[in-house]
Amino acid sequence: MLFHHYNHKNFFNTSKILTIVQNYSTPIWIYSEKCILKKISKLKKFDIIRFAQKSCSNINILKIMRASGVKIDAVSLGEIKRALFAGYQPQSQNIIFTADLFDNETLSNIINLKIPVNAGSTDMLNQLGILSPGHPIWLRINPKFGHGHNKKTNTGGENSKHGIWDTSIALHVIKKYNLKLLGLHIHIGSGVDYKHLKKVCHSMVKEVMKIKKDIFSISAGGGLSIPYQIGEKKIDTNHYFNIWNTARNKIAKHLGHKITLEIEPGRYLVAESGILVTQIRVIKKMGNNIFVLVDAGFNDLMRPVMYGSYHNVSIITIDHREIDFNNTIEVIIGGPLCESGDIFTQSENGNIQKRVIPTVKIGDYLIFHDTGAYGASMSSNYNTRPLIPEILLDKNESIQLIRKKQPIEDLLKLEQT
Ligand SMILES: *Cc1c(COP(=O)(O)O)cnc(C)c1O
Repeated sequence: MLFHHYNHKNFFNTSKILTIVQNYSTPIWIYSEKCILKKISKLKKFDIIRFAQKSCSNINILKIMRASGVKIDAVSLGEIKRALFAGYQPQSQNIIFTADLFDNETLSNIINLKIPVNAGSTDMLNQLGILSPGHPIWLRINPKFGHGHNKKTNTGGENSKHGIWDTSIALHVIKKYNLKLLGLHIHIGSGVDYKHLKKVCHSMVKEVMKIKKDIFSISAGGGLSIPYQIGEKKIDTNHYFNIWNTARNKIAKHLGHKITLEIEPGRYLVAESGILVTQIRVIKKMGNNIFVLVDAGFNDLMRPVMYGSYHNVSIITIDHREIDFNNTIEVIIGGPLCESGDIFTQSENGNIQKRVIPTVKIGDYLIFHDTGAYGASMSSNYNTRPLIPEILLDKNESIQLIRKKQPIEDLLKLEQT
């Protein structure tokens, strides 16, 4: 694969990145607020944009969302608490809890806060209804087919654990506990496959007709893709909207009143806003292979290991030398973890892949692009490595530390019982 000298466009520039690593060291996440605001503006046609915060859950990112009128999808008690901390009020469907199950602690908090539940199972409706009759709910429908860019992210069909298969049973429980049905939700993710999207929309319309119950909203879910690789197609958000709008209008006509159309993206809003800056610490030859080892591991950026995801890389040289694009090497890029799978260049089935990059030196910075979604939020403490700092380049281009590096002592404290 060709090395691509990534165009930082107007969101990141080399001198800003160098200033940040000089002050905070590597590895480090950097986000661009300008980029996030641009992506939000592209979805303005939808009545409500609901950010799937699991993709990037830093409270300072949530504050950007809130200031732009974006609402929140939370999938755990922790995410609800993050949204509240970022200033979201629990009323007016500002926060919706989406899940396929409750634990007791989450359930009691949701009832106390009166947060609407987007239920992915009938058992949830039973457990909620017994304790909180009349509670506002949405139904997450499994439309009996899926899509998803990977078997681990496929969200529909009988191999998916998500959503409600048989709405007639759910309706029975809704009636029993007088639950307040607000809307129907389908999260499949069609990316740029508009034919598939039409199929999803058709399912939504059919489901509304079938349940014979009034609703006020529908949600298109998330799953809008971004071009991770050069040459991949960008989503045409107007086209995306038009397809959903047609479905919404059919439903509104059928029910005889206005229907609110929500969209619930994670990746689309934040993926391109983030980079992971690492430093090259080791370059070693193993037979015919050259391994370039950087100071971030899959505990930081999980996607390549988990899904075989591809992230563009670019280089900033430590000694200000010009990058020589005619002088390239084919390398395998790995991290520091004591685990052979700690490789950023691998395919979905775990086969190692090589990447062509310019000749690099120890100390050069290697940047993984498009890591704003499912980057920091999927990080772990594996190998007792602390969570790394997060930096925001705010809309005035000033550098804000939005998460400190986790002190290793904090990890150890939890175990001093
Ligand atoms: C993860 C998730 C999303 C966001 O998915 P993206 O692919 O990041 O857009 C939206 N809705 C639900 C219910 C999700 O679980």
